[in-house]
Amino acid sequence: MTPQSTKELDQQYIMHTYGRYDVALAKGKGAVAYDEDGKRYIDVSSGIGVNSLGYCDEGWVQAITAQAQTIQHMSNYFYSAQPSQLAEKLCKLTNMSKVCFGNSGAEANECAIKIARKYSFDKYGAERSEIITLRNSFHGRTVTTLSATGQDVFHNYFFPFTDGFSFVEAGDMDALKAAVTDKTCAVMLELIQGEGGVNILDKDYVKALADYCNDNDILVIIDEVQTGVARTGKLFAFQNYGVQPDLFTAAKGLGGGLPIGVCVCGEKLSGVMTPSTHGSTFGANPVVCAGANYVIDTVSDEAFLQEVREKGDYLEQQLRTIPAVKNVRRMGLMVGIEIEQDAHDIAAKCVQNGLLIITAKDVLRMLPPLTITKENIDEAITILKNTLEE
Ligand SMILES: *Cc1c(COP(=O)(O)O)cnc(C)c1O
Repeated sequence: MTPQSTKELDQQYIMHTYGRYDVALAKGKGAVAYDEDGKRYIDVSSGIGVNSLGYCDEGWVQAITAQAQTIQHMSNYFYSAQPSQLAEKLCKLTNMSKVCFGNSGAEANECAIKIARKYSFDKYGAERSEIITLRNSFHGRTVTTLSATGQDVFHNYFFPFTDGFSFVEAGDMDALKAAVTDKTCAVMLELIQGEGGVNILDKDYVKALADYCNDNDILVIIDEVQTGVARTGKLFAFQNYGVQPDLFTAAKGLGGGLPIGVCVCGEKLSGVMTPSTHGSTFGANPVVCAGANYVIDTVSDEAFLQEVREKGDYLEQQLRTIPAVKNVRRMGLMVGIEIEQDAHDIAAKCVQNGLLIITAKDVLRMLPPLTITKENIDEAITILKNTLEE
């Protein structure tokens, strides 16, 4: 048997659910990655906001290694220190009450949907189960979270989808009120639509939405899978908006590179879920939670958050010096870059030129590691500028 390359094996044996860039990444440190041929890249995508502390942060590696050498897994029928400590931190830092653990963003959102529906079922009966979400949203790839996603392109092939979701235009309070019926139990939204193109919701709209929902006992579910864990310069994006959700979810950046999803609820919902109403074999894994504890301890520090905000400001300033950049949509280190050219073409060329960057709809998207240095930002800007001017 002749050994096949990574690319050949991938193309032969992995289902083609992703269009890949022509690069096989082999290792990394901080915001710098290397491919199998040793070529160096600046990474401003961090695995779609997952490697929040960059590649192989020393403290993070130590935290997960120590836990893997102690106990790597136990079932949820036993108490476990790492998830218990993580849950306490998440609740205390966000003024929430209880955490449910899973392994991905989609699972965390499924959990939020289940909690919202059960709260409403217990209080009002089975009829009041509908959830309003926003057009252009993205909530995951399971059948139910696809159903919750407000983009028609996702509502194909996999029929029948889950009933009980309706969609309204973001930013339009009248449309939201018109969509509410006596069957509405929750509104679910991202405060910055990540996959939808880095669309930043208006503060007044979000506040009005939260007030209206609170007045009508309609639950507010904030999907912080992409915006959470210091990405926007606060620990969670809702802390930039001055609202308190009934439920929020987090995933991508939380584990620092290991799979985790959490659904966090406020006081009102803390008694809704009872034994056997939800669960996950891998949820609350101690190695993953050791990584997440390290991430949360690092990024919740006010000085760290301040740096994220400053680096975001600096990155935007530099982007705005590039003539081909039409506009920048940004909060913290979550960045959408409007350009004249086709964003996908430019992203592919950037990758060839040593910059790992992604897109969202028709914008270039940057989700750099929160620990990225100013020098690496400067390198990224230079590559992007040269690529746009090629
Ligand atoms: C990525 C994402 C999800 C889905 O997360 P997975 O871990 O891929 O299941 C859900 N919501 C938002 C806002 C996301 O960005």
